[in-house]
Amino acid sequence: MNNILRLTALEMAEKLRSGALTSVELTQACLERINQHNPRIHAFLHVDAEGALATAKKIDEKRAQGEELHPLAGVPIAIKDNIVTRAMPTTCASKMLEGWLPPYDATVITKIKDAGLPIVGKTNMDEFAMGSSTEHSAFGVTRNPWDEERIPGGSGGGSAAAVGSFMVPLALGSDTGGSIRQPGSVTGTVGAKPTYGAVSRYGLVAMASSLDQIGPVARTVADAAALQELIAGHDPYDATSLSDEVKPLSNIAEEYARKDSLEGLTIGVIKELSAGEGFQEEVLQSFQAVLNDAQAKGARIVEVSCPSFEYALGAYYLIMPAEVSSNLARFDGMRYGLRVEPEEGPVTAETVMAATRAAGFGDEVKRRIILGTHVLSAGYYDAYYGNAQKVRTLVQQDFDKAFAEADVLVSPTSPTTAFKFGEKSDNPMSMYLNDIATIPANLAGIPGISFPCAIAGEERMPVGFQVLAPAHQDDTMYKVARALEKIIGEPLAQQCPASAWEDE
Ligand code: GLN
Repeated sequence: MNNILRLTALEMAEKLRSGALTSVELTQACLERINQHNPRIHAFLHVDAEGALATAKKIDEKRAQGEELHPLAGVPIAIKDNIVTRAMPTTCASKMLEGWLPPYDATVITKIKDAGLPIVGKTNMDEFAMGSSTEHSAFGVTRNPWDEERIPGGSGGGSAAAVGSFMVPLALGSDTGGSIRQPGSVTGTVGAKPTYGAVSRYGLVAMASSLDQIGPVARTVADAAALQELIAGHDPYDATSLSDEVKPLSNIAEEYARKDSLEGLTIGVIKELSAGEGFQEEVLQSFQAVLNDAQAKGARIVEVSCPSFEYALGAYYLIMPAEVSSNLARFDGMRYGLRVEPEEGPVTAETVMAATRAAGFGDEVKRRIILGTHVLSAGYYDAYYGNAQKVRTLVQQDFDKAFAEADVLVSPTSPTTAFKFGEKSDNPMSMYLNDIATIPANLAGIPGISFPCAIAGEERMPVGFQVLAPAHQDDTMYKVARALEKIIGEPLAQQCPASAWEDE
């Protein structure tokens, strides 16, 4: 592998600034890597070599002319395929949107283009972001670079695998119930879900609007923080956008970690998410080892209890499908993408919609639309949707109480390491249980990050550590995650077998 691809995004940016590297060279190296390994790994659904190189060239020219550039200018990035990119295919890994060329850019894309990061392409995902393994993509699975027989997590498996296999240093994901953090966890990469509203959702194809949030994917905590800084900020196009000032997250995190002490920090271990059935032994051991190290560095470790988390998964699987059923109603064969006419009988608006939706959506999407329509129907609304909303409030109250006792809350990101293809795809419930530790943050709107804390077991698969902070305190989350990453040592993403893949 070209050694420049091993660098972090911030190191690449430094080399671009000093003139040791050009963006064209760097982008070319990413594209070559993608060319060689994407046919096997299938992290990308679409690669835009021409567009990426054109941006790289423009940035190199501007730099040569001494123009003031964004700190990440010239660093290549990949985009999850549910974030709209003008004139570049955006499919949500669904036949429903195959071939769709959006007429506009999402706000995060406008920011990335303004900052001059070459967009190398769009990454694979579970269809419309529904899943935990990327096995629900209509265009084929993505492979985990640590073991190609295993899933890369989901729904953002493509972004995680692209970053984990050194095809790009940075990517964007979306997290509705864990789709940035859980793929991070099982691919040894870093993924963060910002505070709800910190990053604009304008141009993110909606799954469940009250839970969806765009966030960064990287190989180090500081890189993720730098990318969040770039994409965050108030957006008048998103009614739920916050007006918080955007803090220098990567500097804050770096400065805190430099102290090399966790004196004064209280870490709350969420009892319900760090023990018990479903959690792999090696995951729990790796998690505990980090806590021991943190304690040795002066942190106070306390146990906190969030009793209503027992019902969080259930509440999520009522609220999320309810919103899905309403958000996906727009894919009706009339306005976007696919249009299929019935094979027999009259061609009416209704029969075209039915035929289009039958052909365009996969099983998991259909399952959730049916479930969501059911829980919202008259007679069931109070029993299901109404009660789920009450649980959502209880989850928020549990977090409030826990954050009164600790600065941050922690748990393993995912109860298991990467599982094998097919292991859970036939049983939706077992797949859903994988999100047990990530979902509460979405229900409460708080920020959460996953970073690799160990390579565990005989299979040598990465384990993710999750740090949660109160809403609006993304800086606290990055600070603590960066300090813990430093205690663990060299970023574990470097140990991915992908770093030894031969390039021709
Ligand atoms: N795996 C979860 C689900 O299937 C989360 C999805 C997401 O965050 N987009 O709903």
